[in-house]
Amino acid sequence: MTKPECQAVMEQIYAYLDGELDRASQERLKHHLLECPPCVDEYERDLLLKSLLQRSCACEEAPTALRAQIMTRISITVTSVQVERD
Ligand SMILES: [Zn+2]
Repeated sequence: MTKPECQAVMEQIYAYLDGELDRASQERLKHHLLECPPCVDEYERDLLLKSLLQRSCACEEAPTALRAQIMTRISITVTSVQVERD
């Protein structure tokens, strides 16, 4: 389902985030993101991933584990509330 131009954008997103693309490629990528929501999703995911990776390099992995634990607890709470309502 991926369009050829989207494929090209996805391959360049990491280079773009790292500031490794030349100006013309940057402009092309930015222009594509303006008109292609699926590629924006991909871009934002990569951006998030990149910031998470940078953070985990700077400190321990504990925050991620803690966050996963919290998310699990929240979903358990939500499930049990739904069960009680039934
Ligand atoms: Zn696209």
